[in-house]
Amino acid sequence: MFTPQCRCIVVVGAQWGDEGKGKLVDVLAEGADLVVRYQGGANAGHTVVVGDEQFILQQIPSGILHPGPRCVVGNGVVLDPETFFIELDHLATKGIDTRGRIQVSDRAHLVLPYHKLLDQAREKSQNIGTTGRGIGPTYEDKYGRRGVRVGDLRTPGTAMKLVATGVERANALLEMLGASTRADLTAHQELLGRLGPRLVGLATDTGLVIHRALQAGRRVLLEGAQGALLDVDHGNYTFVNSSNTTAGGAAVGAGIGPMAIQGVLGVVKAYTTRVGNGPLPSGADAQVDAMLRKLGGEFGAVTGRARRCGWFDAVVARYSARVNGLSHLAVTKLDVLDTFPELPVCIGYRIDGEPTDQLPSDVGMLDRIEPVYRTMPGWQASTAGARRLEDLPREARAYLDLLAELVGVPIRYVSVGTRRDQIITVE
Ligand code: GDP
Repeated sequence: MFTPQCRCIVVVGAQWGDEGKGKLVDVLAEGADLVVRYQGGANAGHTVVVGDEQFILQQIPSGILHPGPRCVVGNGVVLDPETFFIELDHLATKGIDTRGRIQVSDRAHLVLPYHKLLDQAREKSQNIGTTGRGIGPTYEDKYGRRGVRVGDLRTPGTAMKLVATGVERANALLEMLGASTRADLTAHQELLGRLGPRLVGLATDTGLVIHRALQAGRRVLLEGAQGALLDVDHGNYTFVNSSNTTAGGAAVGAGIGPMAIQGVLGVVKAYTTRVGNGPLPSGADAQVDAMLRKLGGEFGAVTGRARRCGWFDAVVARYSARVNGLSHLAVTKLDVLDTFPELPVCIGYRIDGEPTDQLPSDVGMLDRIEPVYRTMPGWQASTAGARRLEDLPREARAYLDLLAELVGVPIRYVSVGTRRDQIITVE
């Protein structure tokens, strides 16, 4: 997708996350100079298979797995220092050279142990289905203007004062929530004393780094986490993340202007899944749900939670194309559908008997959706070896054509397996 006219691309999930963004970022990173994470935190779990090795990257951009690109953790990310360095050191043990290749925004907010305690205590009453990694409470503190940023660690006295106030506040909240645990100030001091200097060594104005790279004609890949339907504004509120997962969030979270982004690749699975709670209009019956989960290995990369599965929902994908401004589509996991004799595609909804092709904003209406399906014939043949569109069975090509037509965005990539080479590039 990189061309001289398209040097800054964002990859976003166009469903409910877990679309296989990690693989697409890995494929595109080969031609990139800089790979940037711009939102979310250790709740993301991008799976990339290199040879026989499977890597699950939570906070470090997937570009690290290629020898070339430098990686940036942008200002929009909330960074958990403990798990960040565990991940970094783990990569080094696997022979990945990370030295001098990672920079972290000094504006990124820190996820601290008290945020995790609050997250876990809240989840008990709110039941959103969060991963309990402290992401939501960290964003709350960011917007409440009481967060601790990476750059604060440059002045340890200031950082420790902010953290002491945070611990005190968190403990008051934990008491209110009836939680039995409390945050320990000494443990926080120890953590920041141990990891603070290391983090400061990586901290910089990453917006400037990206700006300079673009000015020098370099190729920049912005790596989204989660999916459009989990966006705090455009997702199925309240079953959403705490950040803007849609493409607009990339400019803000990376610290560049929106006009700098020249391509928006939306990743969709050839079917639909959702982890956590909240509506899933095209959710399949128990038998198909179980089959898709088994064939697609639909279990969370971070939590191991089973994902709910259903047929491709074109209303959702078209909505996603609009709110992200998708220029291209990547369809992943086509191979998972190889054995189905028939493939229903959700082409519209009925809500209280009224037909609509638009996604309603409130969860109450979403719960009353009756999906309208158009059933396509399956291909019942393996697609795993296909490397060109012409290698695919006629029915698979017809299925992809229908998806592109319904979503209104051309397909650029089709993924037919977990491995790097199992991809079709549509020229
Ligand atoms: P992400 O968060 O969007 O990167 O999604 P995940 O990391 O959860 O990736 C989804 C899973 O699907 C991972 O285990 C990938 O290895 C796997 N995967 C990605 N593309 C394909 C594909 O085309 N076919 C199959 N069978 N698996 C895929």
